[in-house]
Amino acid sequence: MDAAAGPGLDFDLHCHSTISDGALLPAAVVARAAAQGVHVLALTDHDEIGGLAAAREAAREAGIGFVDGVEVSVTWRGTTVHVVGLRIDPDDATLAQGLESVRSGRIGRAQRMGEGLAQAGIAGTFEGALKYAGNRGMVGRTHFARYLVEIGVVPDTRAVFKRFLVPGKPGFVPHEWTDLATALGWIRAAGGRAVLAHPGRYGLSSGALADLLREFRAAGGEAIEVVTGSHSPDQYALFSAIAENHAFLVSRGSDFHAPGEGNADFGKLPRLAGHLKPVWHDWQF
Ligand code: AMP
Ligand code: MN
Ligand code: MN
Ligand code: MN
Repeated sequence: MDAAAGPGLDFDLHCHSTISDGALLPAAVVARAAAQGVHVLALTDHDEIGGLAAAREAAREAGIGFVDGVEVSVTWRGTTVHVVGLRIDPDDATLAQGLESVRSGRIGRAQRMGEGLAQAGIAGTFEGALKYAGNRGMVGRTHFARYLVEIGVVPDTRAVFKRFLVPGKPGFVPHEWTDLATALGWIRAAGGRAVLAHPGRYGLSSGALADLLREFRAAGGEAIEVVTGSHSPDQYALFSAIAENHAFLVSRGSDFHAPGEGNADFGKLPRLAGHLKPVWHDWQF
């Protein structure tokens, strides 16, 4: 498939499997994407590339294009930001070691989250979250959210985050991930293209956002997500304009995690506006 083959193709370059905080196995994620009309899919699990081989094989069977991806957790000025790496070499040792170092703090963090929630009167959440973590070492907030919904504390995962899992709430534990330049160094060492994930989700002032974009570019970042399940339609327009003004390539992806969870699913989002230069503009499949 030639990337120039048509602006009409559905590129979905951001989603998750049970290897991180998605609810479907990598092959099932691919099957769902294919069934819902995706032509080219990137699997981008948080801080982990262990699902790529199975997903790639499933994509071959389903007859859709596949892109090796990852979503790296970064701490920038005390805020967690996410950087997607696309077309990374999954065998690159620098990237693999870097991701391992990012993952290493997760169990301890989750234990402290469990302690915080216990102090707020909800016991057993660390063990409960682990039930939902297909990959124990990748336990995170989404797994806690699913458990808190299961035990009926809150009606849905969105509400759990608001009440329990964001800064200032009992289940939130501040955590230092890796820094921006280091994360981009790993992605680039592995031959990948770095994409700033859902820039509208960080709650940054316009000044801080401009600083983030400047530092991201200086470290070798090339693209920003514009159309994502984590942005509102207003933000599609805002970040389209920002990409154009700052000459960033643009990306698109559902950020799918689980059927019926949140509003992100395959084949639902609008395409990128035709005047923008997509991150896949020079890819061959
Ligand atoms: P963690 O890496 O453990 O901090 O978990 C981050 C993940 O939590 C994100 O990738 C999302 O899947 C999920 N998440 C973060 N904020 C929210 C929110 N407000 N509502 C629903 N899910 C969220
Ligand atoms: Mn997630
Ligand atoms: Mn993210
Ligand atoms: Mn994501």
